[in-house]
Amino acid sequence: MAFTAQNCFAPFEQKVWLATPTMHGEELQYMTEAYTTNWMSTVGANINEVERIAAEKAGVKYAVGLSCCTAALHLCVKLAGERLYGKPPISHGALEGRKVFCSDMTFDATLNPVVYEGGEPVFIDTEADSWNMDPAALEKAFALHPEVKLVVMAHLYGFPAKVEQIKKICEAHGALLIEDAAEAMGATVNGRQCGSFGDYAAISYNGNKIITGSAGGCLLTNSLEDANCARKWATQARENAAWYQHEEVGYNYRMSNVVAGVVRGQYPHMEEHIAQKKAVYERYREGLRDLPVTMNPIVAGTKPNYWLSALIIDKEAMCPQVRSDSEALYRPEAGKSCPTEILETLARYNAEGRPIWKPMHMQPMYRMHQCVGREGSLRCRTNAYIAGGVPDVGADIFQRGLCLPSDNKMTPERQDTVIELIHACFE
Ligand SMILES: *Cc1c(COP(=O)(O)O)cnc(C)c1O
Repeated sequence: MAFTAQNCFAPFEQKVWLATPTMHGEELQYMTEAYTTNWMSTVGANINEVERIAAEKAGVKYAVGLSCCTAALHLCVKLAGERLYGKPPISHGALEGRKVFCSDMTFDATLNPVVYEGGEPVFIDTEADSWNMDPAALEKAFALHPEVKLVVMAHLYGFPAKVEQIKKICEAHGALLIEDAAEAMGATVNGRQCGSFGDYAAISYNGNKIITGSAGGCLLTNSLEDANCARKWATQARENAAWYQHEEVGYNYRMSNVVAGVVRGQYPHMEEHIAQKKAVYERYREGLRDLPVTMNPIVAGTKPNYWLSALIIDKEAMCPQVRSDSEALYRPEAGKSCPTEILETLARYNAEGRPIWKPMHMQPMYRMHQCVGREGSLRCRTNAYIAGGVPDVGADIFQRGLCLPSDNKMTPERQDTVIELIHACFE
């Protein structure tokens, strides 16, 4: 009988998580301060401090504290849209009918806000050497649609994109850049923080990110006027009057002063979390060295925050795997494995992995949207992989890749067991 995971390990008694919050004590102190001073609201000292620290850490002039990063991205899109095309009629979005170039392989919150504002995402394929937006594909997209004036890009799993190159391409075409740094807070490109390259950027304090407020996010910008505008929109767009005076549609997007207390207490520990995540990544890289897999790529000159460790299986070492819109099937083969086998094995042993973000052009809701690859072709069909065509880079990484348990509190011993379980999948 072959050596299998089944006959060698007992499941973890305590679940090994993908990524969980890590509290240190100061968080409770700042939350308590909000409570005892009765600033249990969307104003207060914690919010002011979070905005100050967030801007300082990111190296931008202004940060606006919001209820989540998705709200921050929405306001980024609205600011960019109005700056590009002017104020729309009251019932119209700021991007009504406009195409916007967007990262393809990312969480849908990166680009859903484009749709909130009536825009049409055109997806830009991923490149193999950064797992992020392919600058060559972006160039091709501008050749196809020279009228486009807005690009929305993300840094996947805390591993920076070639954002300097992307910014240059945007500038050459007179386009604005929105940078979704939700997963990449604290990561740098040539010494500059992710979130400082875009005309507008967003960071997240969601529960599983590098630091957390349980929820929350910030919009980042160097424009005082835009920061003030975002703050106004986030508080129901009240005009400066004694009564509730309104000239435009507003939102209830402001950060809570209690949540801000948690974020405030977390910031001093961000570098410590990054160091722990880096150690996790390096242990995987060492431990999986003998397998036909590669870890998430690191572009020269960049320093990731290592939020999630991920791997991709060599083409030759993939066992057959197909996925429908909700289910996955695979056929085990000696010496080979696939993401489904590894994820199911991890789950059986009480450890949490996750598939790679399913590319947006493969999502039912966006399947009729264009996706531009570096060869410049337009794709607007789901799942070229299953259809038998040559997969685009995003579909290929989705097919062959997965995120590994990356909790910063995972002990080396527990991680060794995860590494052995992955080895067992390839037996
Ligand atoms: C988490 C995440 C978001 C959304 O953040 P929230 O604060 O949960 O709204 C957006 N984009 C990416 C890439 C993310 O990972």
